[in-house]
Amino acid sequence: MQKMDAIYSLNPLNRLDQTRGNEADFKSRRGLDSSVFLLFNGNELLVHDETLCEFSGLQLKQYDMNVHDSVLLGELEGVNYFAISVEDNKNVATRDDDGNFSAHPLRKFPTRLFTEKNLYPEAKLGILAQAASVLNWHLSHTHCACCGEPTQIAHSGWRRDCPSETCGRQHFPRVDPVVIMLVTYGDQCLLGRGHQFPESRYSCLAGFVESGETIEDAARRELFEEAGVAGGDTHYLLSQPWPFPSSLMFGMHIEAKTQKLKIDYHEIADAMWVDKADIVKGLAGDESLPFILPPSVAIARNLLEIWVGDK
Ligand SMILES: [Zn+2]
Repeated sequence: MQKMDAIYSLNPLNRLDQTRGNEADFKSRRGLDSSVFLLFNGNELLVHDETLCEFSGLQLKQYDMNVHDSVLLGELEGVNYFAISVEDNKNVATRDDDGNFSAHPLRKFPTRLFTEKNLYPEAKLGILAQAASVLNWHLSHTHCACCGEPTQIAHSGWRRDCPSETCGRQHFPRVDPVVIMLVTYGDQCLLGRGHQFPESRYSCLAGFVESGETIEDAARRELFEEAGVAGGDTHYLLSQPWPFPSSLMFGMHIEAKTQKLKIDYHEIADAMWVDKADIVKGLAGDESLPFILPPSVAIARNLLEIWVGDK
């Protein structure tokens, strides 16, 4: 099957893992006027004048923001990239004399970026996913899960340490694996819809990988639990960081052994088999079909594109 890059999957940074433990090096890079900073207020990316979301160290000093956490994301062409959590957005806006900041939930951002502003290149979107995901982890891990002490950011933003002498536990950012499945039977594929989906939207079935489970087993288990379909040959196709807040999507292909559906309506609202010809029409924007396919930001759409492009 053809090679394809899902949105958020391209990240050109050298993550500089070998320098993260050097506090002096971190501070030196953090203080450079040439360094690039991505600013987040909670889960929202700050954009200046609807055009700028990469700020220089010089601009950061001018804005005089109330910085909460800083994470060294990496280096690209000699420039250091940081993700920064800004405590309150109003403070930022009042410090800015010649323009306005706006805060954008990242989840809604790529579509708008590509269709209207082309603000951030697709070849770098993985940097936004990296920044959003790690900052979100910091926000939700302010205390030690073992003893309850407030934790301290460490290792250039890639760890939180418990200061308690009797505990001292180190905590690392988490990534949650999710499988999402292109399920086929001959020239048909299985689409389902979640209870929270927009009207008529159908997509690929998906679910979290559980402890002690391979991604292949997880994919077959989710398929059977949600649609009652036994899966046969299963293999990995492509992956996508999905920073809402910290998922890693594994796109899988399962060849179904049977087509008979036994839908678990607690898990999903509906599922149906769809001809490949109708998937082709749906991807081309045909509005006469009884379903709407997922948007271009979703790896589910990539899986369908790979399938119809496969000769
Ligand atoms: Zn502790």
